Amino acid sequence: PPPVEKFEYQAEVSRLLDLIVNSLYSNKEVFLRALISNASDALDKLRYLSVTDPELSKDAADLDIRIYADKENGVITLTDSGIGMTRQELVDCLGTIAQSGTAKFLKALKDNKDAGGDNNLIGQFGVGFYSAFLVADRVTVSTKSPKSDKQYVWESEADSRSYTIKEETDPQLIIPRGTRITLHLKRDEKGFADPERIQKLEKGYTKEVEVDDDPAESRKDDQDDQTERKKKTKKVVERYWDWELTNETQPIWLRNSKEVTTEEYNEFYRKTFNEYLDPLASSHFTTEGEVEFKSILYVPPVSPMGKDDVVNQKTKNIRLYVKRVFISDDFDGELFPRYLSFIKGVVDSHDLPLNVSREILQESRIVRIMKKRLVKKAFDMILGISLSENREDYEKFWDNFGKHLKLGCIEDRENHKRLAPLLRFFSSQSENDMISLDEYVENMKAEHKAIYYIASDSVTSAKNAPFPEKLMEKELEVLYLVEPIDEVAIQSLKSYKDKDFIDISKEDLDLSKYKNEEKEAAVKKEFGQTCDWIKKRLGDKVASVQISSRLSSSPCVLVSGKFGWSANMERLMKAQAG
Ligand code: ADP
Repeated sequence: PPPVEKFEYQAEVSRLLDLIVNSLYSNKEVFLRALISNASDALDKLRYLSVTDPELSKDAADLDIRIYADKENGVITLTDSGIGMTRQELVDCLGTIAQSGTAKFLKALKDNKDAGGDNNLIGQFGVGFYSAFLVADRVTVSTKSPKSDKQYVWESEADSRSYTIKEETDPQLIIPRGTRITLHLKRDEKGFADPERIQKLEKGYTKEVEVDDDPAESRKDDQDDQTERKKKTKKVVERYWDWELTNETQPIWLRNSKEVTTEEYNEFYRKTFNEYLDPLASSHFTTEGEVEFKSILYVPPVSPMGKDDVVNQKTKNIRLYVKRVFISDDFDGELFPRYLSFIKGVVDSHDLPLNVSREILQESRIVRIMKKRLVKKAFDMILGISLSENREDYEKFWDNFGKHLKLGCIEDRENHKRLAPLLRFFSSQSENDMISLDEYVENMKAEHKAIYYIASDSVTSAKNAPFPEKLMEKELEVLYLVEPIDEVAIQSLKSYKDKDFIDISKEDLDLSKYKNEEKEAAVKKEFGQTCDWIKKRLGDKVASVQISSRLSSSPCVLVSGKFGWSANMERLMKAQAG
């Protein structure tokens, strides 16, 4: 038999293992993610190095990851045909902690202990390979690097401070290249060795992995003849990691955007989100620097919740990956503010740990920066639609998601500059086609200093309201705010391009520019007493009765006080109270 060499773990690894074994960590299933991610990295490395050195991949063409779950014996085996490890790499990678993520974890752990805390720290940091010991009391890693002509076996037990390395000699276990990790599950964790359970776990964060319920059988299959194999594989659940099989099928977001066609983006959208309509727009980008991630975002063609439901509860619209491994699609404002929750897409981060949890997402600085960039890209994409030659596209967008953006005006002050140009309203000069605030401003006359609006429940009633008469006479455009949310949205913006929004139904509408002083003095003289008399008759029902310069043909108008609710708001409040 070959010599078995024994090695002591680096002190940090021992501490880490102690902690993993002894902590009552509730999220044990993260081990699968970590191991699949390592395997996936190993395939990536091989692929990458093979570009310059095709010799490396000559021994086995297929790049795949397979998982075998042996229910009877409580053993899980995970095989990849990736880069593998040499003997020295086994010592360096699995006996010491060189990796910054794990080192950070240990530091945080120390700080946390010093502070007397006992948080669920494993949940916050990837402990990678060692998370195997969350569920296994013995782990065997048999690995063959193309750089070495020997295959080595690393083995360790959960509660030991050492591991062993020996040469692999069992001919049944020799592989052309890659790594096989065998987890001998703890007595209480044997339930993980269930193909169905593994499949369910893996399904969330990877594409098809082969799950096999009998490793011995499958090994035999490989050596037996084809007919025998076919018979045997009947009871084997055959699933492959389809995007790992070849270069061409790598995830679309990792490809160069110049090489992806619109049809491919649309197809990915339809497949990923189970849609049958194409998106209105898409945006594929990479960010580098402080945080690194790749993303494809989409504007859906219709609002799934119905146009009137702006306050989408949680959606499953954003799929977060960490280094290609699916992490979650269960977000609640972490990556997009609520009002942009209609945006769909995938985000693949390089900086987050694999077992990132909801709490981390909420607190992480990285996530905050990601959110900022994602929001900016989403706005660019929407602006793109609005600038498109095809006006119908934006009309469609506005029809579906206009309310969301108005909600944004109320909730997201920081993005007012991006939101305002996207708004659309009917106006006294444009009753059938909505206009943008930019169009309004462009049409403004020299003496026209503010953006006038009136809130009502329809274009017709806005048009027939007595308020705008004077303005219409002067041909000053008035925006018609006909949706309940409009008024609050506009009031949140306060101004656009240095022009204040002014509610023409309010008392202090200043039309002094258009005043005729002499005429007014005469009117005042003539009707002053009439006003007093009306006020006396109406008593507390009105605050005051005044002579107004805003009317031209109607005899009188009821207006709200400067600081009071507008009539429209009162109507809304009443409707809600009722
Ligand atoms: P991380 O993956 O964060 O680097 P791990 O503790 O999970 O940390 O793994 C340590 C190292 O062991 C990896 O960086 C890699 O070099 C090596 N390794 C782990 N699993 C595999 C594998 N399946 N194939 C090749 N190398 C591996």
